[in-house]
Amino acid sequence: MATEPDAPPRSRLVLVVEDEESVRMTLRYNLAARGYVVLEAESGTEGLEMARSRNPDLVVLDLMLPGLSGEEVCRRLRAESEVPILMLTARTTESEKVRGLDLGADDYMTKPFGVQEFLARVDAVLRRAQRPAREAPRATLLRAGDVVVDSESRRVTVADQEVRMSPKEFNLLYQLLSSPGRVQTREALLRSVWGPSFRGDSKTVAVHIRWLREKFEAFPTLPFRITTVFGVGYRVDLAPGVHLRR
Ligand code: CA
Repeated sequence: MATEPDAPPRSRLVLVVEDEESVRMTLRYNLAARGYVVLEAESGTEGLEMARSRNPDLVVLDLMLPGLSGEEVCRRLRAESEVPILMLTARTTESEKVRGLDLGADDYMTKPFGVQEFLARVDAVLRRAQRPAREAPRATLLRAGDVVVDSESRRVTVADQEVRMSPKEFNLLYQLLSSPGRVQTREALLRSVWGPSFRGDSKTVAVHIRWLREKFEAFPTLPFRITTVFGVGYRVDLAPGVHLRR
């Protein structure tokens, strides 16, 4: 396939999971016209398989699908990847919308919708997905005393002993440890770790902070601690004499 001289270095791959052929064709035509490479699936089962095997940059997912429902596809995808998901549905009630977002969809559109609005949402979801929360942080290694946080392998070790953590816990720790001594507000942490489209509240941050602390409880000589700054947020404090090295 010939490439335009001014084409972006890598075309974004969008998977459209939609059983209605007319809708699917409209989306494919317009996405392709905008420069996206489009994959199509007609059922939830096929969509899930393609999402796993082709690793798209975005999944456009209809809610009402034969085979696996869009909800189920969303739930399973979310359990194994952070691929952005834009949900489509004919349902209009607020509770359905909230449910889609609870399942981890990044955005939600109710049919019928205009093509221009759809393309704008696709662009926006992909733009948000490129922000720091999903990008590998710039520094690869953070070291403080015998703690090593490696953003490339996404491993955390204390005195060479691995501390296993979820992707969100890792990102939260990385974010806090990157700026020791500086308070980061719950809202800022929500934005940078969960992304601007996350609809949860600051309790989510508190719960993850608790989990992080629990994971480090086994290391009484840990060279840092996570301090709660009441009413504001959290701060990593390094033990006396310990410095952050990158
Ligand atoms: Ca459908």
